[in-house]
Amino acid sequence: MTASRVLVLNSGSSSLKYQLLDMADGSRLAAGLVERIGEESSRLVHEPLTGQGAAGGRRERTGAIPDHRAALRAVSEEMAADGLGIDSPELVAVGHRVVHGGTKFTRPTVIDDAVLEEIRGLVPLAPLHNPANVTGIEVARALRPDLPQVAVFDTAFHSTMPEHVARYAIDAATAEKYSVRRYGFHGTSHAYVSRATAALLGKPVEDVNVIVLHLGNGASASAVRGGVCEETSMGLTPLEGLVMGTRSGDLDPAVVFHLARVGGLSVDEIDSLLNKKSGLLGMCGDNDMREVLRRAGEGDESARLAFASYIHRLKKYIGAYSAVLGRVDAVAFTAGVGENAAQVREAAVDGLAGLGLTLDPEANAVRSAQPRLISPQYARVAVAVVPTDEELEIATQAYALVTQ
Ligand code: ADP
Repeated sequence: MTASRVLVLNSGSSSLKYQLLDMADGSRLAAGLVERIGEESSRLVHEPLTGQGAAGGRRERTGAIPDHRAALRAVSEEMAADGLGIDSPELVAVGHRVVHGGTKFTRPTVIDDAVLEEIRGLVPLAPLHNPANVTGIEVARALRPDLPQVAVFDTAFHSTMPEHVARYAIDAATAEKYSVRRYGFHGTSHAYVSRATAALLGKPVEDVNVIVLHLGNGASASAVRGGVCEETSMGLTPLEGLVMGTRSGDLDPAVVFHLARVGGLSVDEIDSLLNKKSGLLGMCGDNDMREVLRRAGEGDESARLAFASYIHRLKKYIGAYSAVLGRVDAVAFTAGVGENAAQVREAAVDGLAGLGLTLDPEANAVRSAQPRLISPQYARVAVAVVPTDEELEIATQAYALVTQ
């Protein structure tokens, strides 16, 4: 049997998510998460999988895990107990999610010292994410120095945005000096979902124009022409664009000056306000769409208002990206909210018949983990629910790179 396993790591500042996939058939062998790394109450949840679903035997460990190195060791021990350890010869690569690739990294890249240094150099552009990603890479390299480690960048899929789209209309020299431009995020998801949408329509990806709406806790939209990203709603950082769980999305940049001058807030306070205390949370006190919907259903005014703002912004982006693409073949909803919240999909499409968008209410109400159409047969634009799979996409890209 040829070795074909890829370990996918997604390290956050205090968490480590992982999946082990077998790329011979794309099946999943294990998945898990370590959270609260560095605290007394760290928790590791490990789940062996059969490829089709849970294999049973979900295991949980609690107790201090001091750092990412200890976290990956603990993960390796859990996997070894199922005969899937990190030292296994079956493993051909580790695929790392790296949030920011700047303008330099537009493809998955095998990591050497120079690449790692460049990823470190991008920390000013992603101060919360890239340091954690670097730690994950260092730890995995130390455990398996013989194994190719592949960085898959969240920004890469958006690197095809035309220059006039990627640029902000500010002083060119300043923009250049400080690398200020639109990068976009959630790229692995937008890439995967745009391809999966074409497959759902039974057409080659080159022939399909799709608006992808990735609606999770973070949320972004993209306009994808023939498999190539033309525009996305997140910008220099993941703050721009849609109303999100805790982020404001678009606002007049002068709000920042106003809060500083009139409100006396510091830059860090404004950063935290807009990234962590805004969006649905800021408007109504809940960032989970399930809660917002429940409260709105009970007539809670602030929840209704937050939901209405969320939907209004979404519609504006559907309209804007319809104009960007000229011809839209499909709108695809994905991620936690997009995949599960029929009410959000219904409200987002409501009133957009002029753009060719209508829903089949029965199809929209169906709950399923499968990609599916929720528009009627006759609709000019297909509306779809396409579950995203960032881990599979990272593993696929990493495997392709090391086996080419
Ligand atoms: P992220 O990866 O950004 O944390 P996910 O894609 O996992 O986010 O989405 C998480 C969000 O999905 C939750 O915050 C919640 O608002 C939303 N969500 C999950 N299930 C449902 C549901 N059944 N109805 C509405 N929203 C849901």
